[in-house]
Amino acid sequence: MTKFSDLKLSPKVLKAIDEAGYTSPTPIQEGAIPPALEGRDVLGIAQTGTGKTASFTLPMITALARGRARARMPRSLVLCPTRELAAQVAANFDTYAKNVKLTKALLIGGVSFKEQDQLIDRGVDVLIATPGRLLDHFERGKLLLTGVQIMVVDEADRMLDMGFIPDIERIFSLTPFTRQTLFFSATMAPEIERITNTFLSNPARIEVARQATASETITQELCMFKASRRDRAATEKRKILRALIDREGDACTNAIIFCNRKTDVDTVAKSLKKYGYDAAPIHGDLEQSKRTEVLNGFRAGTLRFLCASDVAARGLDIPNVSHVFNFDVPGHAEDYVHRIGRTGRAGRDGKAIMICEPRDEKNLDAVERLIETKIPRVDNPLETHQPASEKPVESDAEAKPKRSRGRRSDDTAKPAPKDAPVQEAPQAQDTETKPQKPQRQAAKPQRGGRGRGGSDRRDGGNKPVGMGDHLPDFIAKSFDDRRTS
Ligand code: AMP
Repeated sequence: MTKFSDLKLSPKVLKAIDEAGYTSPTPIQEGAIPPALEGRDVLGIAQTGTGKTASFTLPMITALARGRARARMPRSLVLCPTRELAAQVAANFDTYAKNVKLTKALLIGGVSFKEQDQLIDRGVDVLIATPGRLLDHFERGKLLLTGVQIMVVDEADRMLDMGFIPDIERIFSLTPFTRQTLFFSATMAPEIERITNTFLSNPARIEVARQATASETITQELCMFKASRRDRAATEKRKILRALIDREGDACTNAIIFCNRKTDVDTVAKSLKKYGYDAAPIHGDLEQSKRTEVLNGFRAGTLRFLCASDVAARGLDIPNVSHVFNFDVPGHAEDYVHRIGRTGRAGRDGKAIMICEPRDEKNLDAVERLIETKIPRVDNPLETHQPASEKPVESDAEAKPKRSRGRRSDDTAKPAPKDAPVQEAPQAQDTETKPQKPQRQAAKPQRGGRGRGGSDRRDGGNKPVGMGDHLPDFIAKSFDDRRTS
């Protein structure tokens, strides 16, 4: 078996890996690190959970350990589709580069330009960014990409879904022709193939087994549900969710609850809260400070239930999730694999429970075809088990839906009558996932370029929001600071 010490990584990186507790490289690391260290382009076909972040950060740190950053000219660039993913990559850098003197900056929407400008002005070795915010900085004349020696594109297929490909092409064209490119995608759609053919030069192609089959450590269950009346469907479905949670008892230490629509993410979180469950939502319409706070709470174990949309949860590495509940069958079968892959990580046991209505059966078929498994059916828990806390927690003012005059948005579900804590969720079509291309067009600024103060529009936020007290400390720190603090 290959050991990390066989991979020609710098001794300081090896020390950090050892301190992180990793004993051996994962297949994507074993495949990608050697060619990356030789300076070759790499095309990694792997998804989150395979250790792909370390497969590019470790050789980057080794390569960048020699040399120095110059003002406004980052030496390397990592592009990520979402702010959370970018922040996660930054945290990975902190872990693996803790024994090396390198500086980095994280350019994501929702953080003030001023702080980011200051870091760039001083010169950074590693720039981690979402494409929109990176181009904002570039167009403000604060950044030169001509010093980029290594460029990473992470989660390219999600970039495609989010309409980022034109931005990626532009960024490629702003970096030197001689740069090294490390490119990662879970799938190879024709558009992704085209990009890699255009911008990668004779890449080493490493493909790790597609996670079409869910990890064997995940127990899967499916609860079929037919509403007693159409107008009660949403209320009854939430009741089933509570009963399913209760049925798991103490084994359910924490869970991510996935919904297809942003509106449902909010409604389900509110409903759970109202019934005394410790839940909060995360999706692209929330302010960045709130997203960070919710995520930190969930990671720290102070929040038990995270209600999420696919985009918000994509790529998030949250260890120790005991359960995933699919409130809906996802519209894209691959999302099922991504969703349930949040649990049962690194060989731990996990459980994934999905609710399926008759109208979702087509989607269910697609999921079962993809994973080549018939998900075991379980009884409707309401027939055997009443949820423990069937009384709304009245004191919880926040859980009460607000009244709104205009179009109902995520945070303004209809006011509930006394006997129905949360009313029918509007069946809005504002699904966060696809298709996003038309939105991308609409979000483009009128004139050629982004206006000042533009943020990562396709990344959910449409105005820069200060992170206030919730600015994670690694965002503003250099590796150097960490080392000496
Ligand atoms: P990623 O696919 O990059 O999101 O990584 C998934 C998880 O695997 C993260 O929690 C990493 O810290 C962890 N990880 C990465 N490399 C290794 C390794 N060689 N051994 C054990 N865990 C790892």
